[in-house]
Amino acid sequence: MRPSSGKLSPVRIRQAVILAGGEGTRLRPLTYDIPKPMAPVNGRPFLEYLLEMLRENGISEVVLLLGYLPEKIVQHFGDGSNFGVNIKYSIGSISDKTGTRVKNAEHLLDPVFLLMYGDNYWPLNLKRLLAFYNEHGTLASTTVYANKDGKGEYGAENNIHVDDDGYVLKYDKGRKDKNLNGVDIGFFILSKEVLELAPNRDFSFEEEVLPALVDKRQLSGYRIEHRYYYISTPESLKLTERYLKPKKVVLVDRDGVINGKPPEHGYVKNWSEFEFLPGAIEALRLLTQNGYNIYVITNQRGIARGMMSEPDLDIIHQKLKAELEKHHAKINGIYYCPHGRDDGCDCRKPKPGMLFQAASEHDFDLTKAVLIGDNESDLQAGDAAGCKTVPVEPGKDLLQIVTSLLNS
Ligand SMILES: [Mg+2]
Repeated sequence: MRPSSGKLSPVRIRQAVILAGGEGTRLRPLTYDIPKPMAPVNGRPFLEYLLEMLRENGISEVVLLLGYLPEKIVQHFGDGSNFGVNIKYSIGSISDKTGTRVKNAEHLLDPVFLLMYGDNYWPLNLKRLLAFYNEHGTLASTTVYANKDGKGEYGAENNIHVDDDGYVLKYDKGRKDKNLNGVDIGFFILSKEVLELAPNRDFSFEEEVLPALVDKRQLSGYRIEHRYYYISTPESLKLTERYLKPKKVVLVDRDGVINGKPPEHGYVKNWSEFEFLPGAIEALRLLTQNGYNIYVITNQRGIARGMMSEPDLDIIHQKLKAELEKHHAKINGIYYCPHGRDDGCDCRKPKPGMLFQAASEHDFDLTKAVLIGDNESDLQAGDAAGCKTVPVEPGKDLLQIVTSLLNS
């Protein structure tokens, strides 16, 4: 058992190990000729995106665990130097199960490393995952998609139960247990000691090692709400391609950024009360003309307080969009929270629910988006979702922020 984190200096990670040996049967006919990680995404193999993400997280050592058509991967990636990483290979047989693939690479592994499935993608923040791992002191942490929108690989079917403290109580590949509350998506941080739990035969990492870790209370689950993507079927590959296509995205708060802030506890209840702030229309026009997608993210508690209705708000937003279009500015989506402070919703900022919803519906990467707001709660929501955040402040309005964004 790993001593609790307080007693040791925190673990660092420099190595990622990627399971990339399966046959990818659900992706046939594509995978008759190439292994799944080589599936083309916007003209490049999917695996290139994973390596890029690892590099952005400061990882330079990669071990690829191969089995099916390994030469196709080796030929393309070589020693990794063209991709900014150093790659080592462990090549087994096509039929090896996942645990066996990891076990066979034992001699190449760091004491603690990141283990990934070669067909899942989400914008990993290794720093945060590692802080979680160090805090929990378990032999292993996995990343768990909260799956509130049922957009996991098997729809609403979950396979893991994480308690409120972040410990995994159940891993159930059969997806039967009633308390399951998320989907394990890989991106494990593992101590090599985990391999001591391995049986002396061909074994599956997720079916045998994970339950054994749960029994010892040695698996913690890092919950994420940012949607993840996977390439296991032709349909999901298409979505992944849409997501990984580079996009420029700006998320903007409304009141106090685009239009004048209503007086304390007042709300913009109809279009006649809506007043654009100086430069706001020009700023949105510049964003549109420079290829940005703009999403407005706004708390509208006036609805919960009965001061206006959702149809009232919809009319304001239709007029807002129409007025902007006259000036060649386009808003791609408006998300609002109609709830009050004590309603316990997931959407009211500082909670990041609206940001995750927008990203999930429009398939963009929140960690590459910029959030602009005038309130501390905007910035907190942006930070929780992994966005870059920029505050509107006295002397720094939307137009000034946009101008410096476009010049950066
Ligand atoms: Mg505001």
